[in-house]
Amino acid sequence: MRAMVYHGPGQKAWEEVPDPEITDDGDAILRVDTTTICGTDLHILKGDVPAVASGRILGHEAVGVIEEVGDGVRTLRPGDRVLVSCVSACGNCRYCREGRYGQCLSGGGWILGHTINGTQAEYVRVPFADHSVYQAPDGVPDEEILMLADVLPTGYEVGVLNGHVRPGDVVAVVGAGPVGLSAITGAQLVSPSHIVAIDLADARLEAAKGFGADVTVNSSREDPLAVIRGLTTGLGADVTIEAVGVPATFELAVKLARPGGRIANVGVHGEAATLHLEDQWTRDITITTGLVDTYSTPTLMRLVVSRQIDARKFITHNFGLDDFPEAYDVFARAADTGALKVVLSR
Ligand code: NAD
Ligand code: ZN
Repeated sequence: MRAMVYHGPGQKAWEEVPDPEITDDGDAILRVDTTTICGTDLHILKGDVPAVASGRILGHEAVGVIEEVGDGVRTLRPGDRVLVSCVSACGNCRYCREGRYGQCLSGGGWILGHTINGTQAEYVRVPFADHSVYQAPDGVPDEEILMLADVLPTGYEVGVLNGHVRPGDVVAVVGAGPVGLSAITGAQLVSPSHIVAIDLADARLEAAKGFGADVTVNSSREDPLAVIRGLTTGLGADVTIEAVGVPATFELAVKLARPGGRIANVGVHGEAATLHLEDQWTRDITITTGLVDTYSTPTLMRLVVSRQIDARKFITHNFGLDDFPEAYDVFARAADTGALKVVLSR
């Protein structure tokens, strides 16, 4: 089969590799019909995620059809059309029992396209298949279901729920990529008074307006702190959601929060960011971090099916699987191309 293989920082290739095989009786083999690229894949290519070894097939999002299941798989059959979640879960360990699947102690968590071969391929082996895939509902196209593999639960769980967004809040979202836009989407479910999107790319801010941001700030031209203070009688945001993953945006997210406010970090960080405790120790702030657990996937799937969440808005580009190199280029140059999620289909 062909797959997108990581060959060390800055290097990747769409190339011929061996087909995956069942190696554990909880595994399933999926024929990938639709997959996509995540901001995290760009971090991997920058060298920010050293656990990814050279030779690894990238990707942690897919919708496809089960081809084969191991003897221990109980709930899936060949022919089932399923969503593969970015997080795999054994379902039995202490953390899985708490719904904290991202921290699975038995070899689950974010493993696809990270510590094992991923979904940017014609076929993928999915471990712990019973607990790691979701039956795709009829009547909703694969590419919309695909948005539930990572971005929608990430923005909602790690941004909105960890940040405890409440009705009437002023919410600042730093970074209006697909994850930031998911946080904007999720925040609207609880009726904040203002959602402020902050980014350096006008194309992304334009998208943020379409997703429901009330105010947009291009932080290369405007001071986000002044804008937020203007909206909050000088106090700061009730909740800030960091959805970029560089030191400057974490530090900005902390600065934008009001005393007593909450800062939800979502971005994947490859280097140290400074927490200015000398400024913050009196301000009663709460900072949360998190790897998405995907416990909200069934809830969000119902909202996608009912169109309370319009997953179509994320999809800006469609490619064939053989167009992977071009799709990466378009996604990496989002400021120029306007790309949000690029979808690759068989
Ligand atoms: P993306 O790269 O598409 O979007 C990032 C956005 O940040 C871009 O629009 C970019 O213009 C903007 N940006 C860059 N530097 C900025 C700055 N200094 N100030 C303001 N904006 C700036 O990425 P994405 O797919 O939206 O993902 C966002 C982050 O979430 C990434 O770090 C990704 O790795 C992370 N992520 C985390 C989890 C998790 O479980 N915690 C899961 C998925 C993704
Ligand atoms: Zn587990």
